[in-house]
Amino acid sequence: MDDQASPLFLSDPSRRHWDDYLSRELAAAHQRVSGGPVTPRLDLAAFRDELASFDFQVPCPAEQLLSWTIAQMEHGIVHVTHPRYFGLFNPAPTTPAQWADRIAGTFNPQLATWTTSSAAVEIEAHVIRAVIHRAGLPARATGHFTTGGAEANYTALICALTRADPAFSVDGARAFRGRPVFYISRESHLAWLKIAHQAGIGRSAVRLIATDGSGRMDPNALAGAIAADRASGCIPIMVVATAGTTNAGMIDPLAACAELARTEGAWFHIDAAWGGAVIASRKHKHVLAGIELADSVTIDAHKWFATTMGCGMFLTAHGSILSSAFAVSTGYMPSNDRERDPYVLSLQWSRRFLGLRLFLSLALAGWNAYAHHVDRAIDLADRLSAILAARGWRIANRSSLAVLCIDPPPGAADVRTIVSKVLASGRGWISAATFEGRDVIRACITHGETSLQDIETLVDALAAAGDPVALRSADENLSR
Ligand SMILES: *Cc1c(COP(=O)(O)O)cnc(C)c1O
Repeated sequence: MDDQASPLFLSDPSRRHWDDYLSRELAAAHQRVSGGPVTPRLDLAAFRDELASFDFQVPCPAEQLLSWTIAQMEHGIVHVTHPRYFGLFNPAPTTPAQWADRIAGTFNPQLATWTTSSAAVEIEAHVIRAVIHRAGLPARATGHFTTGGAEANYTALICALTRADPAFSVDGARAFRGRPVFYISRESHLAWLKIAHQAGIGRSAVRLIATDGSGRMDPNALAGAIAADRASGCIPIMVVATAGTTNAGMIDPLAACAELARTEGAWFHIDAAWGGAVIASRKHKHVLAGIELADSVTIDAHKWFATTMGCGMFLTAHGSILSSAFAVSTGYMPSNDRERDPYVLSLQWSRRFLGLRLFLSLALAGWNAYAHHVDRAIDLADRLSAILAARGWRIANRSSLAVLCIDPPPGAADVRTIVSKVLASGRGWISAATFEGRDVIRACITHGETSLQDIETLVDALAAAGDPVALRSADENLSR
């Protein structure tokens, strides 16, 4: 037998050497990223050539491989870990969340069953209970970690369909005497369309409800849509209120939506994928009043809670539906416990120890640190709003959270031009979005260490991009 060490599984001393090397190189790269452009430029042709040279025949030395990979990350992606990333809800992850990935990767627990991974399953359950308590959901509520908001929202739809007719689990959509439909606002996250497709009720089962001009679902339009569906024989399965719309951070009228869902016998889900983190803040959590009325709630840990990517939560007041929806009997699993085995209570089967990220973050820093994290972002968004308003820009949305939808001043360049100029400058990352049917510039405070100075740099970059004169002189400078 060949007892030469395999490069797949390094010896302990060699592994320690490369782990240390990687830690040092990552720390150095992190520092360079924070001081460089948010939108680095990749020489795509050179990159593709280098990538193609990995034919996986000749092994590549560790140092070369690790440093090449870090360099590609440094130059080939938008830096969400940069303090001037004012972007989509992608955080700079907390340090303890990064530790969690390392610990989970080392022990690689399989969280399908409690039997084999008791400590890990119980740590996740403990965090879920803490989040339920902090959110003010009923004490009987339960839940689990998901890969993200889309999976959590998918879980909500499956629960709603299963509750509406238990035969759904056997017969699918055919179990219903009419068409099952559900309601979201037209400003909602459109992963709902894919979710309806996956669940087998089809994309046309999604009713996009009009908003009221401020980016919130209009409860009268919702009531009208439900009545029209009833009249035509459709079955209203679920009402979804978004708490923190992706474009504009708006919160649908939670209590009014809850009341309509209740009188219709429909499941009431709150999609608080990003905005849910406001439960941490004593100062701002009142904006989520009504969350306690939800049958289920989505909160992503990988958004405002700033864990590493791929970490959501599904919470529900009706835990027993989870086992009706997801139970399955097997002979080959170590156990089949419908109280505590995650694989019979959720969509996933094999699962990673995702909850450790939020556990370590909460345990190291406490709720107060998250309260500060949320309050600080909202405060910075308010300041950005004030500075822009003083310079003639208009804020289109009135979010109580940390997202601004911005209209350029009269006479300035259009939204798409401004956004592409700011991105090209490397001074900040913002995006173009639509709000209430028109183009706006979207800026969200997502990074825990964005400073007032970063805000001012963004305003300067916007002004330079929006002002045709400044634009011309910037171009001249470039061509010189
Ligand atoms: C991000 C987001 C989603 C999708 O969640 P993922 O974590 O990206 O799967 C759904 N709804 C809202 C409101 C979101 O912000």
